[in-house]
Amino acid sequence: MRQGISRRELLAAGIALPFSGIARAQLTCGELTVSQTEGPFFKPKSLERTSLLEKNSVGERMVLTGLVLSRQCKPVANALLDFWHSDDMGEYDNQGFSYRGHQFSDPGGRFRLETIVPARYPGRTRHIHVKVQAPRRGVLTTQIYFPGDPGNRRDPLFRDELAMRKVAGEGRFDFVIEA
Ligand code: FE
Repeated sequence: MRQGISRRELLAAGIALPFSGIARAQLTCGELTVSQTEGPFFKPKSLERTSLLEKNSVGERMVLTGLVLSRQCKPVANALLDFWHSDDMGEYDNQGFSYRGHQFSDPGGRFRLETIVPARYPGRTRHIHVKVQAPRRGVLTTQIYFPGDPGNRRDPLFRDELAMRKVAGEGRFDFVIEA
């Protein structure tokens, strides 16, 4: 026999509220996002842009959104996020700047990246490289993964805590950095 709403159900309902990003952040943002190798294909001086889509972009479009948070769970405004990833064939553009771009988090610490789903390449599961830096602080270099990708099991670099969540068809990832 059920009587009223359990605490667990209340918590679950809370997580579904519009402020869920903040509710979740308060549960999880004590620990810094783990860093990972930059890999061989980073290039400085990417363009500032939130969409990496181009006229000739093929591949499945995707959106990655999230927050940049401090260890104290405060949104970090004006944090630099510099993204780079392979194209739909698993190639990096080392001559130019395709699928490379940086942006700054908004006053609420939010970012939004529009791009294509990168392909796997030999030895690597699907991933997006990123550098995240609060104003006047050190740089976090890491990689974001795709949950459930069959390549994840075979890639020793893959980490569950670096996998984006899928929310309403979009990828979601919150960074916790020194700020
Ligand atoms: Fe890579």
